[in-house]
Order: sequence, then structure tokens, then C-alpha cells
Amino acid sequence: MAVFEKAERLKQLPPYLFKEIDRKKKEVMARGIDIIDLGVGDPDIPTPPHIIEALKKAADEPANHRYPSYSGMAAFKETVAEWYGRRFGVTLDPATEVITLIGSKEGIAHFPLAFINVGNIALVPSPAYPVYRIATLFAGGEPYTMPLLKENDFLPDLEAIPGDVADRARIMIINYPNNPTSATADPGFFSKVVAFAKKYRIIVCHDAAYTEMAFDGYKPPSFLEVEGAKEIGLEFHSLSKTYNMTGWRIGFAVGNQEAIDGLGGIKSNIDSGVFQAVQMAGMEALRGDQSCVHEMTRTYEARRDLMIKGLRDAGFTVNSPKATFYLWVQVPEGYSSASFAARLLEEAGLVVTPGNGFGEPGEGYFRIALTQTEERLSEAMDRINGLSF
Ligand SMILES: *Cc1c(COP(=O)(O)O)cnc(C)c1O
Repeated sequence: MAVFEKAERLKQLPPYLFKEIDRKKKEVMARGIDIIDLGVGDPDIPTPPHIIEALKKAADEPANHRYPSYSGMAAFKETVAEWYGRRFGVTLDPATEVITLIGSKEGIAHFPLAFINVGNIALVPSPAYPVYRIATLFAGGEPYTMPLLKENDFLPDLEAIPGDVADRARIMIINYPNNPTSATADPGFFSKVVAFAKKYRIIVCHDAAYTEMAFDGYKPPSFLEVEGAKEIGLEFHSLSKTYNMTGWRIGFAVGNQEAIDGLGGIKSNIDSGVFQAVQMAGMEALRGDQSCVHEMTRTYEARRDLMIKGLRDAGFTVNSPKATFYLWVQVPEGYSSASFAARLLEEAGLVVTPGNGFGEPGEGYFRIALTQTEERLSEAMDRINGLSF
């Protein structure tokens, strides 16, 4: 029995859905089976050398050893604003419309504390990155689920949100290109979101972690490109996926000044900013040679093609994604997400993420992360073909 009772905010969390998978994974490993982990969305490719060099140089500089500015170095925020201008044609005031984050997860998790009171609603997608829902609960808010369904191209159906729910909502969270469904959204959808948010005075938080991981020449839009977006929304961005920097912990939020200011008010009382040397490396990433980004997308594109062909030949139903390093695959007839993931693990040594782990509307799917070499992915496909469903 535990001596210390945990706070309600922890006790209210749903049971950890991957616990059973984690237990089975250990069991299978103990049997000496070579596991291929297609579960985690963490790039297997190292950070480009020119970015590492920038960190090394900046780490030697004593001025960088002191507390950084809470909201981020002016030079970093200017670099972000320039990058938004180049990439999206979006104009930002670096002083008031940009804030540096310790990874975008940090900003997303803290944001509801700035705008949600007890009893307020946050409109959150499902299946989704679990942080959206949990951050709402930690702030005392009520998450209202917007299901992402295949028949709606994995976009939320705004018309299905009841008026009294929208009236009580303070924020809406969306994420395109999407994790876990790999769906993309066009500016037309973003315009509908802007109109909805204006009508109900809701702040839109767009998680844009995957805008640079796109294929076949597709360039995902920023939410802030559409007219009126900056009046009601902000966008969370990250260097994690674009530059293989998940371990570095650097991201940023941009957009509506009041929203950025509110987030800054929370953060300045919790953390003390991002190590300046990491911000300087981030500046090098955003301003430097972008050929590493093209190389990264070519790598994932080839892996995507290999796996989509393999899975379709094996009889699976899966959309070929235009962006993200995820495949969102329907489980075969007669299986649940959990039972199929368990079978792949036990009989083929493959770790995939059961779709219901991202929320109940994800039931019937599993997610594959393309974070293994083509050789390992081929091996995974061979093992899948060795099973019969
Ligand atoms: C990976 C990911 C992020 C990025 O997280 P960081 O904290 O910036 O590393 C944000 N949102 C989603 C949906 C992700 O998958």
C-alpha cells in the first residue's frame, strides 16, 4: 500500500493503456526474440552535424551559462518569425507573437492553465496525442471529444458540436498533419475553424509538429495562413521532427498576442526558459542549409512506399499518407486494436501502437511509426506475411 495518497489530478487519469503491451514486450524479449519497435514516434536519424556544431560553439560561451530570457532570446524569436515568413508567408512580430518552448509538448501542456477555469470545456480531437486531453484535465477543464473518423477524412465535424458545448468551450485543439492518423488539412478546413472559433470566442491551438515532414512535393499549410486566424489562434511548432532533435527540447508557439502572453505568464512562473546554446543551435537549424530536411523527407517517403506496398499486398486497408512518419492501418476482420497488436508482438516480435491507445475513436486501427531502416521494415513485412489472419 502506498503511504502517500496521490492528488486527484493524477488519480483521475485513465489506466495506462500501454501497460499490457509493455509487459508483453518484456516477456517476448526475455524469450530472446528480436523485437522490431514500430511503436515510438522518435526519429532514428541523428541531428544534422552543422546543428551540433552550433551547440558546441555556443556551449563554450560564458554568456550562455546564465538564465536565459523567459520568453526566448530575441534573436531566436526573430529567426522563427523570418522562417514563418519564408515558409508560410505569415508575418509575425517576434517580440509579441513568438515564444520559445522547451519542446512543443511543454507549451501545449501548459497552455490550458492560462485560459481554462474549472468547468470550462476544451474541444479535443480523438484519437490524438494524449497531452491535449490530460493537460485540460490538469487545468480543471472538461475535455469534449471531437472524433476523427475515416468518413470525415479524419477532420473534426464542427457541425456536430452542440451549441451549449461550444458556448462553454474556451479552447480547441487541432493537429495537421495529424498524429496518429497521418491525415492532412487544407486551408478551407482551417477557414471553417476560424469562423467557428470567432462565433464562439474560442482560442484555436494548432499543433503543427509535422508540417515539414511531407511527401510527393506536398507543402502542408500553417493554420495562420488563413484570414483571421491570428485573431483567434496560435500554432505550436517544434524542431523535434523537422531536424531530428527530439532530445534537445526546443520548440515555439506563434500567433495571437494575448494567447502567447497568457502562455508566457504561466511559463515564467514554472520554468526559466531554454538553454541559450540550444536556442542558438535552433537558429542554425532554421536558418542554415535545409538539405537535411529534404533528405529526411526522402528517407521517410521511401520507407512509406515500401510499407504501403507491403501492407496492401498483404491485404491491409491503409491510406498512403502525404505527411508524417505514421501509417494508420485498419486491423483485420475479427480483431480489436489490442488483440491485433498483441498478436503481432507475440508471434512476430513487432511492436505497433493499438489505435484505441490514442482514444476510443481509434479502435479498429493500429499505428506504425516509420522509424526503422528499410532493411528492418522489410524484415517486419516478412514477419507479417508469415502470419495468417
Ligand atoms: C512529436 C510531437 C510533438 C513534438 O513534441 P516536442 O515536445 O516538440 O518534442 C508535438 N505534437 C505531436 C502530435 C507530436 O507527435
